[in-house]
Amino acid sequence: MNRTIKKNWLDTQKRIEKANPDGKEITVIAVTKTHSTETIEKALSLGLKEIGENKAQEFVEKYDLLESRKEEIHWHMIGHLQRNKVKYVVGKTKLIHSLDSMRLAKEIEKRGEIEDLSVDTLLQVNVAKEDAKYGIFLEDATSFLKNIESFQHLKIRGLMTMAPYYEDPEKTRECFKKLKNLFEELKKEEYNNVTMEYLSMGMTNDFEVAIEEGSNMVRLGRTLFGERPKLKK
Ligand SMILES: *Cc1c(COP(=O)(O)O)cnc(C)c1O
Repeated sequence: MNRTIKKNWLDTQKRIEKANPDGKEITVIAVTKTHSTETIEKALSLGLKEIGENKAQEFVEKYDLLESRKEEIHWHMIGHLQRNKVKYVVGKTKLIHSLDSMRLAKEIEKRGEIEDLSVDTLLQVNVAKEDAKYGIFLEDATSFLKNIESFQHLKIRGLMTMAPYYEDPEKTRECFKKLKNLFEELKKEEYNNVTMEYLSMGMTNDFEVAIEEGSNMVRLGRTLFGERPKLKK
C-alpha cells in the first residue's frame, strides 16, 4: 500500500510538472476522506503535509487521533461546513476552502471572536451554477467581500471551486478560466480582510487543466490513494 501511494505520488508529480512548465509553486492538498489515519501517516512520510477532509465529524476524529502530530500536519476543510459544526473546526485548520454563504461567514466570525483567533478561508464559487453544488455565484463575489469588510476574525485568502464533472476534462477549462479571471480582478481591489493568494481548483479528474488555467492549489484524492471505498447506504 505504502509503495502504491508512493508510486502514485511520483506519477502525479510528473503530471503536475508537465502541466506547469514554468514551475510555479503549486500546493497539493492530499484528500484523505474515507481513508484511515494510517493513510494520512503514509502521506506525511512522503512529504505531503497539507491534508484535506470534507466532513467535520470525520476531520475531528482524525485530528484527535493524530493530535500528537499536529505541528506537522496542516489541515484543510474542503467540504461543505454546517454552521453547527463550525465550533469543531475553527482553530484546528490552516484553511477552510468551503466558505459558501454569508450565514456561514457570520458563524465563523462569531467563533473566531470566542476563541480570539483569526480564521483563514477561501470563498467557494459555484461557477457553473450547478444545483447540486455549494458556493456563491461569480457575480455575487464582490458584494460578498464588501459585506465582510467589517469583520474582525474571518479572513478570505483566495477562491475555490469544484468544476462540473465531465468525462472529458477539457470541458472544465472554461470554468477554471472564469474563476482565474475573477481571482485576477479581485487581486487589484483592496478589501479589508481579503487577499487573493490561493486559487484552489483541480481534483483528480481535472487537475492538469486547472493548473494550465492558473490554479496554485489542487485537491487530490484518488490519484494519490486510489478509489475510495463505496459508502454503504
Ligand atoms: C473529494 C474531494 C476532492 C478530491 O477528489 P478526487 O476526485 O478524489 O481527487 C477535492 N475537493 C473536494 C471538495 C472533495 O470533496
